[in-house]
Amino acid sequence: MTFDYAPAPESRAVVDIAPSYGLFVDGEFVPAHDGKVFKTVSPSSEEVLSEVAQASAEDVDRAVKAARKAFEKWSALPGAERAKYLFRIARLVQERSRELAVLESLDNGKPIRESRDADLPLVAAHFFYYAGWADKLDHAGYGHNPRPLGVAGQVIPWNFPLLMLAWKIAPALATGNTVVLKPAETTPLSALFFADICRQAGLPKGVVNILTGDGSTGAALVAHPGVDKVAFTGSTEVGKAIARTVAGSDKKVTLELGGKAANIVFDDAPLDQAVEGIVNGIFFNQGQVCCAGSRLLVQESVAEELLDALKRRMRTLRVGDPLDKNTDIGAINSAEQLARITALAEAGEAEGAERWSPSCELPSAGYWFAPTLFTGVTQAHRIAREEIFGPVLSVLTFRTPAEAVEKANNTPYGLSAGIWTEKGSRMLWMANKLRAGVIWSNTFNKFDPASPFGGYQESGFGREGGRHGLEAYLAPSSPEGAR
Ligand code: NAD
Repeated sequence: MTFDYAPAPESRAVVDIAPSYGLFVDGEFVPAHDGKVFKTVSPSSEEVLSEVAQASAEDVDRAVKAARKAFEKWSALPGAERAKYLFRIARLVQERSRELAVLESLDNGKPIRESRDADLPLVAAHFFYYAGWADKLDHAGYGHNPRPLGVAGQVIPWNFPLLMLAWKIAPALATGNTVVLKPAETTPLSALFFADICRQAGLPKGVVNILTGDGSTGAALVAHPGVDKVAFTGSTEVGKAIARTVAGSDKKVTLELGGKAANIVFDDAPLDQAVEGIVNGIFFNQGQVCCAGSRLLVQESVAEELLDALKRRMRTLRVGDPLDKNTDIGAINSAEQLARITALAEAGEAEGAERWSPSCELPSAGYWFAPTLFTGVTQAHRIAREEIFGPVLSVLTFRTPAEAVEKANNTPYGLSAGIWTEKGSRMLWMANKLRAGVIWSNTFNKFDPASPFGGYQESGFGREGGRHGLEAYLAPSSPEGAR
């Protein structure tokens, strides 16, 4: 029996969304060169939230020039001075976190519980963490007096709009680079509110520029000759296109792309705890997470027991209004993403896997997908190979640790993995064998600004977060004393 919760909606009134926004260039909000705009909608209701400017190649040029001009002074500031701005931004994010959490849930569709308790605290933590590095770069392991690269062109996806912005902007600024950032077209609003925070923090003009727009804006940004460093998070397909664009130039590149993580449960694992980890692994942010534990590999001897417990737990998940504090699963970010999830789930059924979802009522407006699991999945099935980026779990079984490793590594990706076992020796043995950038043990989807994150193979290259995340924004060290 489950208890019925009364609705507990967070107030929408804490955020004031303007009917339209311009581009943030050289410290000012300005209209796009050709006056083009597009609408951003709330995926849970399809309500138009605002209209934002669509940046063209001319706007990219204007923003890159502003960032270049600002670079001279910004990069010459002592690290301790840059740190003050970053600390100020971190504190402003904390002060405005309720407003930003509501905004993020409205524009993205994610539950307020997540934007409030995961996204926003992590955004502030990233700025605090990299503020701490700004005056210690000499001690970061990249030689004496490492230099910034120049202008960073940064393109981010829609699944964690403000958090991905923080992952990109905090290390870039700490190391003395300036930034032109393009948020995803379906979630532009929190980046524009961040622009306002930069103004509130008194950040010098041109250090951070925000260009809203679609893929064509992103393509113009990464191709711009004035960009010295490209940082991209998004799909593998676009990552490959970007790699082709920058090939032959001396731009430094990091690519954080897709994933198809294995979450591996051994027969000695604490199963109730594992169930929570599986749920968190695949249903956090509606499964629209690059490191989601989208393939459950469970040891055959406990498969039935685990699946029974998992189904029991899934029946208690509450799908609905992202602004309701009791909601576990919110809306899918866009109609396109919903169509992709739907098509892959249908392919799972057509290829012979068995589909199961708890009964749940989905709202009539907006983009929704019930939490779903597939059993009887083989490694050849599309749902075992392709990134679904939705609340869909593919369950496979194994008998021996060696078989678990083989199945887990049987993917073109290599971003993350999870291992559930009581044996420390097995955890370490598995972690050594798994080809994944991040490996969690007896937990999943844990993020910390001090910990590097990134992938192997088609999950991209380069690391973000931690001391390693500084490297992507620094040029090889100059000779002793030189600058
Ligand atoms: P996407 O690649 O379609 O879009 C990402 C961003 O790139 C958007 O801002 C988009 O406008 C822009 N873009 C599109 N075409 C472009 C082009 N030709 N040149 C430059 N920019 C272009 O991805 P998405 O659907 O928005 O995001 C989901 C994907 O992101 C998933 O595959 C997911 O795994 C991945 N992701 C990876 C990480 C990670 O850290 N590895 C984190 C989050 C998301």
